[in-house]
Amino acid sequence: MWRDVETLCPFCGVGCRIVLRVYDEKVEALYPSEEGVNEGKLCIKGWSAHEFIHHPERLSRPLLREDRSREFREVSWDEALAVIKCRLEAVLENNGPDAVNFLGSAKCTNEDNYALQKFARAVVGTSHIDHCARLCHASTVTGLSMSFGSGAMTNSIDDIEDANVILLIGSNTSEQHPLIGRRIIKTVKEKGAALIVADPRRIDLVEVSRLHLRHRPGTDTALINGILHVIIQEGREDRKFIEENTKGFEAVAKSLGDYAPEHLEAITGVPSRQIVEAARMYAGAEKASIIYAMGITQHVSGTDNVVALANLSMATGNVGRKGTGINPLRGQNNVQGACDVGVLPDFFPGYQSAEDPDVRDYFSKSWNTDRLPEKNGLTLCEMTEAIFEKRTRWMYIMGENPTLSDPDSVHVRRALENIDFLVVHDIFLTETAAFANVVLPGASYAEKDGTFTSTERRVQRIRKALEPVGEARPEWKAIGDLAGRMGYEEMEWQSAREVFSEIAGVTPIYRGMSYERLEGTGIQWPCPGVNHPGTPLLHSGGFARGKGCFISVHYNPPPEVSDDDYPLILMTGRSLFQFHTGTMTRRSPTLQGQLDEAYAEVNPGDAKTLGITDGMKIAVESRRGIIRVAARITERVSPGTVFIPFHFAEAAANILTLRTLDPKSKIPELKVSAVKMKREELTTLNEIKKSNGEMKE
Ligand code: SF4
Repeated sequence: MWRDVETLCPFCGVGCRIVLRVYDEKVEALYPSEEGVNEGKLCIKGWSAHEFIHHPERLSRPLLREDRSREFREVSWDEALAVIKCRLEAVLENNGPDAVNFLGSAKCTNEDNYALQKFARAVVGTSHIDHCARLCHASTVTGLSMSFGSGAMTNSIDDIEDANVILLIGSNTSEQHPLIGRRIIKTVKEKGAALIVADPRRIDLVEVSRLHLRHRPGTDTALINGILHVIIQEGREDRKFIEENTKGFEAVAKSLGDYAPEHLEAITGVPSRQIVEAARMYAGAEKASIIYAMGITQHVSGTDNVVALANLSMATGNVGRKGTGINPLRGQNNVQGACDVGVLPDFFPGYQSAEDPDVRDYFSKSWNTDRLPEKNGLTLCEMTEAIFEKRTRWMYIMGENPTLSDPDSVHVRRALENIDFLVVHDIFLTETAAFANVVLPGASYAEKDGTFTSTERRVQRIRKALEPVGEARPEWKAIGDLAGRMGYEEMEWQSAREVFSEIAGVTPIYRGMSYERLEGTGIQWPCPGVNHPGTPLLHSGGFARGKGCFISVHYNPPPEVSDDDYPLILMTGRSLFQFHTGTMTRRSPTLQGQLDEAYAEVNPGDAKTLGITDGMKIAVESRRGIIRVAARITERVSPGTVFIPFHFAEAAANILTLRTLDPKSKIPELKVSAVKMKREELTTLNEIKKSNGEMKE
């Protein structure tokens, strides 16, 4: 007999609802739920989300090896947790709590992530906890908090359909967030909205746009400031909104003198008339929405880009109403939730400052601990440096794969080779798990209860459809067991529901939520009380920080630009058919059937110069390493630029990228790296060794 279990897609941050069809303790198929943001539809990844659940490579028992020269052996949970406890106590005694690092997961539930950050802070006493939000939207959290007082998507996905003009910048939405891409197309085609696409690539949505601003990678601040300059010069700003709701406008208006569109052509590559046209379209709309993603955020200027967009929206009064706002699209299913529940080195759950003594005092009492750290901890990329330099020695990674996802990944691998002890907690033996001492088997999204929080701040339930494979356990349970062994009794939860009740109790923006109230399509935060309906639209009665704050930001060139040695600019990103580091999607026959190898998009002019033909194997080299990929000759990329997706371990694009950080949000520059390219047969033995990480820097 089959049964259906309603849950959520485990891939991107849209939060699509799916129904798993379970037959004889196996998920045989799935279909979209009629309820929810996806309106009864799914993208190809969603339709394939059951294919990895029963994959034979799923981890089913803990693995242990005494040192990295040995093979893993299967052990009991008892033995694995005993070893972790022993090694954790040793590092705490010898090196103190700040020698210990934790990475949570944008793919695990809120309950799993809450458990990990509580363990880090209350049991170990460190605030070195972060996750891959640092690689995608750290600059959104920092920038929007500075400007508006809240670092999340201001509006709801439904609101997109109310917009008259959509400015889509740095988001390949139809591939990264396909069900939001569908909404954009619907709004343009059926409701007559005008779409402005600002993107260095000719992405698919350009086909339905009215205007494509094809700016050079890394020049977003200049482009956005240029649009605002035109709006102010032509008197198109919303004076009433500015005066009633914001502060700092005059200083920003004065700071834009150098951003006349004709001056920007040389920087951005965008004709001045297009910048003027974009300004008139955006400012002239009754309701204009800005949608962006990692093309804006993954830069050393990521925070400045976000602030520039906030300035633009406030100057035109496009905040706090349906069809307007600033809408950052979060990449992974629960990256919003992992941030919300405190998997950040500077915030306890609910964005409560980790350095505020009153907040610390509150959590000391709530969690019954006197170990809470007093200072902010290291961010993700700072942890890598600390491990590399032996300043920290011990790490617990839950559901992340930094050897593929982090910049300059050969450097990441060398850091992990340096670590004294590494625990990896995952559902497959990832490339990162290969460096571990202990590997713990996690439960997939189909094997546990919990909650994910989607990009529109919507907290929704996932439901257990099956028992976890083998001896795998929900992550919150395993972490709670470890806490108990460490002598801490405040994590002995019996169910995910119990964990969520605790989250709601200590997290003001979740306070009115419970599993009962989350039935159906969930609730959008903030939801401060049990009778509060949730908040689909932020800043509608004024900004979260009181007055919205205009802040001057200026264009600075990217840290690495093309030169004679490395004449091309590499952009990295994702494909429709794979997800993140491929841990799940590369085990899906359907998705592998669509795309199973890395490729580089190369402009036809550059291909001709280099003697490269479509499908040919090429070597792409930066100052950090080399990878081999298949060439795709296409006008999607401009002359002088190359695009490579980062999903593929055998051709890891992040071998090439820079680890230079945005000074404000500590997000790395993942979108602009200087590279050169040649036909594969022209590579040398030394280059091959370098691509395998064998050559020293
Ligand atoms: Fe899943 Fe995102 Fe596709 Fe929806 S749009 S089905 S959440 S991958």
